[in-house]
Amino acid sequence: MKTVKVNIVTPDGPVYDSEVAMVIAKTVSGEIGVLPGHIPTVAPLAIGTVTLKKEDGSQELVAVSGGFIEVRPDQISILAPSAELAANIDVNRAKESLARAEQRLQKKQDDIDFKRAELALQRAINRISVHEGN
Ligand code: ATP
Repeated sequence: MKTVKVNIVTPDGPVYDSEVAMVIAKTVSGEIGVLPGHIPTVAPLAIGTVTLKKEDGSQELVAVSGGFIEVRPDQISILAPSAELAANIDVNRAKESLARAEQRLQKKQDDIDFKRAELALQRAINRISVHEGN
C-alpha cells in the first residue's frame, strides 16, 4: 500500500479529500507521522500544521485548530473546528487576529478571557506560519 486516503472535515464542510503518501500531524502529546497501512488509532490534535506528503514528493500544508485524527490502515480522517489549506489563508486577517489576541493578553482581566485569547493567538500564529510555508 503506497498511499492512504485523507479526509479533512470541519463544520463548514470538507477541506481536503485525496490520496497521500504520508500525513504528519500535531497531537496534544506530540507530532505523529502516519504512513499507509498504519494500525487504527484515534488522537486529539493540538492547534498546528498538518503536512500532507504526496506520492510525487510535493507536499501541502493545512492549518488545523485542534479536533481529532482517526487513523485506519486505508483511511485517515481529521475532524477539526476549523482547517485551512495554505492557499486559502487570509494572512492579513490572521495578523489582525494576532494583534487583538496580544492586546487582550496584556489586559489579562480573568482566567477565561486569558485562555480564549491564548487559543486565538495560537490559531493566528499557526495560520501565519502555514501561509509562510513552515
Ligand atoms: P478571527 O478572529 O479572524 O475570526 P479565529 O481564530 O477566531 O480568527 P476561527 O473561529 O478559528 O477564527 O474560524 C472561524 C472561521 O473562519 C473558520 O471557518 C476558519 O476556517 C475561518 N478563518 C479564520 N481565520 C482565517 C484566516 N486567516 N484565513 C482564512 N480563513 C480563516
